[in-house]
Amino acid sequence: MGADIKPLRFMKNRLPIKGQTLRYDVVIIGSGIAGLYAALNLPKSLKVLLINKSHPWECNTYYAQGGVTTAYDDADIDLHIKDTLEAGSGMCDANAVRLMSESSQGIIKDLIARGFVFDTDAAGNLLYTKEAAHSRNRILHAGGDATGRYLHLFLLQQNPHPMLSDATVVDLLIRDGICCGVEVASEGKRRLIEAKNVIIASGGVGSLYEYHTNAHTISADIHGICLEKGIALESMEMMQFHPTVFVSNSGARKQLLSEALRGEGAWIVDDNGYRFLFEYDERGEMAPRDIVSRAIFDYKQRTSNQVYLSCEHFDKEYFQERFPNIYKALRDFGYHLPKDRVPISPAFHYSVGGIKSDLEGRVPNIKGLYVIGEAACTGVHGANRLASNSLLEGLVFAVKVANSIVHTPMEGCLGSFLVGDEALELPSDKEKKDLLRKIMWEKVSIVRTTQGLRSALEAVEKMLSQSVGRLLFLRLLSAKCIIESALKRTESIGVHYIVHEGSKK
Ligand SMILES: Cc1cc2nc3c(=O)[nH]c(=O)nc-3n(C[C@H](O)[C@H](O)[C@H](O)COP(=O)(O)OP(=O)(O)OC[C@H]3O[C@@H](n4cnc5c(N)ncnc54)[C@H](O)[C@@H]3O)c2cc1C
Repeated sequence: MGADIKPLRFMKNRLPIKGQTLRYDVVIIGSGIAGLYAALNLPKSLKVLLINKSHPWECNTYYAQGGVTTAYDDADIDLHIKDTLEAGSGMCDANAVRLMSESSQGIIKDLIARGFVFDTDAAGNLLYTKEAAHSRNRILHAGGDATGRYLHLFLLQQNPHPMLSDATVVDLLIRDGICCGVEVASEGKRRLIEAKNVIIASGGVGSLYEYHTNAHTISADIHGICLEKGIALESMEMMQFHPTVFVSNSGARKQLLSEALRGEGAWIVDDNGYRFLFEYDERGEMAPRDIVSRAIFDYKQRTSNQVYLSCEHFDKEYFQERFPNIYKALRDFGYHLPKDRVPISPAFHYSVGGIKSDLEGRVPNIKGLYVIGEAACTGVHGANRLASNSLLEGLVFAVKVANSIVHTPMEGCLGSFLVGDEALELPSDKEKKDLLRKIMWEKVSIVRTTQGLRSALEAVEKMLSQSVGRLLFLRLLSAKCIIESALKRTESIGVHYIVHEGSKK
């Protein structure tokens, strides 16, 4: 089942020798689906550099399981839009949603034409699955439950431009409303890289939370840099938590149990096998993930029951073929699926909000600066993301940005910048980073209270007033923005659920 992925040559490019000025037409921060697809759509005649923090594959795209949404056919576009708008609780930008849905079939055709193989049946027909809050089967997948990994490897193999790995962007070079490049830290050195265009494709904010499903490279540094420069972030209170995560493994990234499992019939049960979700929503397991997350959170607190994902009624062979990676990962943790029930908890999963962008992926008021993928707030998700819309969003807006860059005269920018001299990390940062994660999980996650948010804000401000390394400083700025946005939104909507002290809820 799925695409035939050839082994990838390990890539590690080094920065040229010190003293040499590094000048590019386009620098792309991040090589997940958004960064790579933008690169693929930028001609080789342009001088393009992709930068990523660690190994090229240490990104959320690599870990995506369920699939990528597409309107099934022209007739499904309006229904896909309706489902997306409903999931977003009326807060989506309807034009952005229409643009995404109308572009979806073309994007899928382009991937297939380039050689990507989605899962098909024996006759070669594409297999479409369904996830919560979708009205019909319209999600394509690859390698069973390894869509992200297959797509990511495919895009890496197709990438025509050089890539710098193990390099962290620690500043954006911005003067007089023009972005002129980035400052990068790599192999213990800091260098300036000039660029006529910078595309932010740096993903979400996962590492701010104690329990999350994200790659370890995803830590909101670029969000922090934007805040530092006065660049607007939008809907940052909208943080999505995934309901079915196995959180008992020791690593920072917790094992996701894809939404597609529930979509295809897995149950959520308590110690006695009782499907309590129907007490909360008539759709039960098919309710949107924020409702399911809150229900699990509440039921656990109310009853002290453990909560499990049960796949007991799946056929064993089908399960192993359809969800091979989940099967193997859970087997390594001692669970034999589909027979064993797996204890689950919600965990942070996806940043719905992000750096504000227009429909061309431009960051308003800063010439030469673009943002795409999970880092961006294009308005397609509103107050909540419909499952599997994010890979699609990354693809759609990557093309928009690439076209925009190709068709906009490049000016470059004047002015000299200096490499920063503050420490990136201090020995005391580790403890503070852990404290931040704990605060964000306990006070700024699934159920928020004004009192909890205020105390979180106070703790973050206290850390900001202390001596911290630049990378922690940037995380703290991003965390502060999330907390302040949550405090500002006094009503519960979408993924933002707030309880006011003294009220019954
Ligand atoms: C476990 C899991 C399962 C998911 N399943 C699905 C799914 O089935 N369908 C779906 O639509 N969505 C899914 N999602 C969400 C989706 O995978 C992400 O939203 C999407 O892949 C984000 O792509 P991206 O290109 O924006 O960022 P990412 O793929 O996260 O890439 C970010 C890149 O930025 C780089 N970077 C970050 N900061 C810096 C810096 N300071 N300097 C240099 N580089 C930097 C990183 O190294 C990385 O290369 C899932 C997410 C997770 C975590």
